Amino acid sequence: MPSITALKGIGPAKAKLFAQLDLSSASDLLHYYPRTYQDRRLDAKLSQFKRTENVAGIYTVIKAQTIPTRALLIFKAFMRDDKGNVIEAVWFKKKMRRFDPFMQMRKDFKVDAKLWIIGKREDRNSFFSNKITVEEYYPVNSPDAKINAGAIIPVYALTQGLSNKFFRAAVFDALNKYLSEEGEALPQRLIQKRNLLNIRQALYAIHFPKSFAELENARRRMVYEEFLLMTMAWSIKKRQSVRQKKEHSYQIKRTLLTPFKNNLDYTFTKAQSRVINEIFADMQNPFPMTRLVQGDVGSGKTVVALCAMLLVAENKYQCAFMAPTEILATQHFITLKRYLNGLGVKIDLLTSKTPKRDKDKILKSLAQGDLDIIIGTHSLIEDNVKFKDLKLIVIDEQHRFGVKQRAKLRAKARDIDMLSMTATPIPRTFALAFYGDLDVSTIDQLPPGRQPILTSHLSESKAFDMVREEVSKGRQAYIVYPLIDESDKLQLKAATQEFERIKTLMPQYKVAMIHGAMKSAEKQKIMEDFLNKKTDILVATPVIEVGIDIKNATIMVIQNAERFGLASLHQLRGRVGRGSDKSYCVLVTQNTSSVSSERINAVCQTNDGFKIGEKDLELRGPGEILGTRQSGELEFKAGDIIKDKDVLRWAVEDRDFLINYDPMLRKPENAPFKQRLIDLYQKYWDIIDLG
Ligand code: ADP
Ligand code: MG
Repeated sequence: MPSITALKGIGPAKAKLFAQLDLSSASDLLHYYPRTYQDRRLDAKLSQFKRTENVAGIYTVIKAQTIPTRALLIFKAFMRDDKGNVIEAVWFKKKMRRFDPFMQMRKDFKVDAKLWIIGKREDRNSFFSNKITVEEYYPVNSPDAKINAGAIIPVYALTQGLSNKFFRAAVFDALNKYLSEEGEALPQRLIQKRNLLNIRQALYAIHFPKSFAELENARRRMVYEEFLLMTMAWSIKKRQSVRQKKEHSYQIKRTLLTPFKNNLDYTFTKAQSRVINEIFADMQNPFPMTRLVQGDVGSGKTVVALCAMLLVAENKYQCAFMAPTEILATQHFITLKRYLNGLGVKIDLLTSKTPKRDKDKILKSLAQGDLDIIIGTHSLIEDNVKFKDLKLIVIDEQHRFGVKQRAKLRAKARDIDMLSMTATPIPRTFALAFYGDLDVSTIDQLPPGRQPILTSHLSESKAFDMVREEVSKGRQAYIVYPLIDESDKLQLKAATQEFERIKTLMPQYKVAMIHGAMKSAEKQKIMEDFLNKKTDILVATPVIEVGIDIKNATIMVIQNAERFGLASLHQLRGRVGRGSDKSYCVLVTQNTSSVSSERINAVCQTNDGFKIGEKDLELRGPGEILGTRQSGELEFKAGDIIKDKDVLRWAVEDRDFLINYDPMLRKPENAPFKQRLIDLYQKYWDIIDLG
């Protein structure tokens, strides 16, 4: 494709400015889409371009004059439109010795000349003021007028030294000279199926649309292409990682599963049993499992994962169970040890806090195969963690990990099964787009007796009134403070001061405090006292985010709620509503940004983990959620993953269609698509290999 200097008026100096925008060929320019558009049509309903403020129209010059002052030269013009509305515009320039700065304007603004005037009213508030600041003007029949006025006009995001007028001319020239060289990457049958504009129509219309409807068609086509390429790339990547056939197989021996089940003091819900069966079927399948278990907070995902781990242990292989925080991993360790009491399963915990000596011992046991289950945090990903026979990875709260972290853990062994769990799943279309044919199991049922939680956003004094009311009825309360780092002395001190303050605010009740830096014996005592109703109010740090299950606790106040992420808030409030009484969660905030207040509203409005997951995606963006924010894999020129959800759905459907019909993209008709895919994505994923 020709260089940008092949275009009218672009020499080496201008080319440097274009290079700042990463534009070096004419084709780059064609694919540099406008930031926005201005409706400069004469008969337009100026919705985007408000008539009261903005002016875009054809005017006839009534009078124009140059007025010299001491330092400045002033050019003043009066004009009227065909309805007789008169406008007045003034330009100022510095006086210069041998050069007349208004020479051209004097030629253009001859009496009776007709000009396109694009500008703004100086006094935005007065409709009757006729003073205009002219931003652009074009003699009516000039070639520039065709490009810059009388239509929907593109506005580009540019750099210092490049004007939109100049840029439009360059794009216009590129369209006229080189549009025919733009190749079609989309397979013809998909263009037909979705009734899309072809690449040339779409490129022309995205710069110079004839109508907003045509613009939307053009944009949709470009978005569709981007999304289809993206989801195809992800899906090929996924296929390559699970293509490997497993060399091992499982037998359901029940040597561990049966005694474990008999030890439980409850029975599985129907939903849990169904999901366990789905997982077992996957594990016995010859290809590696990639299954996401989604189920709301408290739906009992942990025991489901434990069943899978026991199947692995029964067959003498190893499992790794990764959780996003130290506290969560520790809680799981304690819970699982209790479940596995007496079964002879060897289990240990590895986090960044594990002392060096213990760590060395654990690493050795893992490598020798002396441990069946290792629970841990990101520490499990480290290179020195090696397994003898790792066959199953369980990832708890998968939305808190990035793709790369998960991939790294997976790379620790061949033909490995992978089970992810979440209470705030990313919406189905996105999961399909990013993870390809990810299998999803849903635990859509809570254990019997759970109560819906009423969440509200109130002042601290109202929140504490509610606490008093609940406690006076004999119920118990949590007051939670954000403490990001449990070992941070300053933060701990602040929390302790809060504890003292609450004691003085509620002298009639017994208040206790719990935090992560306490010794476990001490923590256990405090939890037991709370469970046995020796205390009424538990001031806590997010240690209680998980695992705590006290049915008489009916209210939770979350202080500085703006500091918690959406998923954490949802997880935290799941600590109440566990008995048969109506339960409350009250969010108290200090200063909220608009994003944090959106989080707060979302949590107040819904208890549905799916909706929370959707909102989380919208607020944090897909890059952060997928952990690929830095690498540009998710940067789109035209599309917006969230706003263009419907197009994403098309892309996912058509990807599956394409994969079915031509899995390796070997058919000649799909060759341009395949080439575009390689051009775009190989730099991110050298593993894309289409053979
Ligand atoms: P989550 O899905 O949020 O990870 P957990 O696995 O932590 O939920 O389970 C929440 C609580 O529910 C735990 O105390 C667990 O023992 C309990 N639980 C799990 N399954 C059942 C069940 N079928 N019946 C009663 N309680 C259950
Ligand atoms: Mg859980």
